[in-house]
Amino acid sequence: MPCSEKRARQLLERNQAVSIRRAPFVIKLLNYAPSDEPASSRLKLDPGSKTTGMALLDGSRVVWLGELQHRTNINSKLDDRRSIRRTRRSRKTRYREARFDNRSRLKGWLAPSLEARVNQIMNVITKLRRYAPIGAISMELVKFDTQKLVDPEISGIEYQQGELFGYELRAYIQEKFNHKCVYCGKADYENHGLRYEIDHIQPRSKGGSNRVTNLVYSCEPCNKAKGNKTAREFGHPEVEKIAKAPLKDAAAVNSVRWRLFNRLKEAGLDVETGTGGRTKFNRSKLGLPKAHCIDAVCVGASTPDAIKGLPKYFDIWKAMGRGSRQIMQPDKYGFPRQYRSRGKRVHGFGTGDIVEIESGKHTDQQGRLVARIKGPYITQVGQSGRLSCSYKSLRLIQRADGWDYGKGEIR
Ligand SMILES: [Zn+2]
Repeated sequence: MPCSEKRARQLLERNQAVSIRRAPFVIKLLNYAPSDEPASSRLKLDPGSKTTGMALLDGSRVVWLGELQHRTNINSKLDDRRSIRRTRRSRKTRYREARFDNRSRLKGWLAPSLEARVNQIMNVITKLRRYAPIGAISMELVKFDTQKLVDPEISGIEYQQGELFGYELRAYIQEKFNHKCVYCGKADYENHGLRYEIDHIQPRSKGGSNRVTNLVYSCEPCNKAKGNKTAREFGHPEVEKIAKAPLKDAAAVNSVRWRLFNRLKEAGLDVETGTGGRTKFNRSKLGLPKAHCIDAVCVGASTPDAIKGLPKYFDIWKAMGRGSRQIMQPDKYGFPRQYRSRGKRVHGFGTGDIVEIESGKHTDQQGRLVARIKGPYITQVGQSGRLSCSYKSLRLIQRADGWDYGKGEIR
């Protein structure tokens, strides 16, 4: 279970614990008798397109916050690979049967950039379950509960009473119109000092409905000026079309979330789901600042009415990938510049390993390694920029595992 840095230091100084992992920093208690109590803590997730917020709660106490930064270069990497393979096909090689039309996608195929996000989240969950007693998981499944938006009658008392429904609806409309007034184009994040409202394309007084396809995001002045007119009469006939189009970006995030949800269920975990509207509602009720990991705290109906011990710092885990398998390094025009070594390890060290320099000028410096074959030398990135030293003076602390670990502060 996560503890404070002070407590970890005390335990280590009194020889009551040993450190077993540097990043994330994990200690193991000596003289610890495992109890039969069921795992008590709950891991909460808010999967997004670039960042996934993570929080670990023990009852109403927030014990750990984290942010997973996804890889964003998968599309461009695949494009690179495609172009390299294309040049290879046109070279003088033996005859190969055309096979561009004999491929099919498996059922449930997801674009590689999306599948990678799911894998990264699953990887993090596996890691966290190794170190913390996680009994249940909460995740934000859909940004907006579209069914509840269209037909609020079916969805229970709190929706009918309107408060949560209003959040769900407002969040949806805001996202759909990119936080911009559909009439004048001013965005709500640009600080124009305007109030924003939800406007009916066909006014209620003229028989317009409350369905989402009749609603747009508008600033107060435009909404007032429009008054009792329809959008067409107000001089904006294009708005009708925009309002009918579905939300595209959210669709990609939603497909990642559904895949993740199914994978978690397959793994036999107890999963609670929540909507983005509820997350926003909970966050404003608890009066918490906006951050990905704070959003994770607020996911789902299990969110406590008051929370204790919100940490000031959160862990940033960034997915880095595990290097390239390309054996030729091209220059920027695609011509061969140099060959890469076949093996990834140089004298037992690999790029991305966390190492410490044990002797010489830079003794006690720690950092990530960039393994280079340049005589017997290895270049190292330390806290004070790049350092160079012999592999003989290096001590391995932790092997590269495809992740970069850092810290962030909540403001
Ligand atoms: Zn406006």
